[in-house]
Amino acid sequence: MANCGRLILFSGPSGVGKDTLLDVLFEKRPLLRHSVSVTTRNKRDSEVEGKDYYFISVEKFNEMLKADEILEYNKYGKHFYGTPKKPIDKWLKEGVDVILKIDVHGFENVKKMYSDKCISIFILPPSLEVLEQRLRMRGTETAEDFIKRMEIAVEELKKCEEYDYRVINDSLEKAAEEILTILDK
Ligand code: 5GP
Repeated sequence: MANCGRLILFSGPSGVGKDTLLDVLFEKRPLLRHSVSVTTRNKRDSEVEGKDYYFISVEKFNEMLKADEILEYNKYGKHFYGTPKKPIDKWLKEGVDVILKIDVHGFENVKKMYSDKCISIFILPPSLEVLEQRLRMRGTETAEDFIKRMEIAVEELKKCEEYDYRVINDSLEKAAEEILTILDK
């Protein structure tokens, strides 16, 4: 890897395929670290505790906030999502690259704190229609959550220009290659 000790801020609307892309990236770049967030939302069937998220209660989330264990957090829809502080500090000290899968609010906050260490990548769908189709096919959301996620997606897409790089996830292989090229710069 060309450089070390960077925070790679990875955002994109719900359903755009961030997790699948990340699986490819971690397979191809085993030295990359993944900052596993805590969330108060329910686990999806396909998700693994400790790999995708740490699924915690609102009470536990508030305890972590009080104890200053959360680097940044946001309420997305009805649920809280936060980045645990300790692993990030440790990895930055060790000089390894860390991927943070966070929403646009998280991106703005982390960039303020670590501007010189950040590389930001926004994953775009080929179109809003395709995004809607992908999210619908995933079938993990209630009708209400689905509408909310699409509304948030429209707002998030307006912020994509603030990121260092934009990658369209049309073909998984092509998008992954593009991201690897960015990381190796
Ligand atoms: P999902 O419920 O689809 O897994 O995630 C919803 C949104 O929350 C996504 O945009 C995801 O990137 C974002 N997210 C996940 N973890 C964090 C986090 O720790 N902080 C922030 N700010 N956003 C997060």
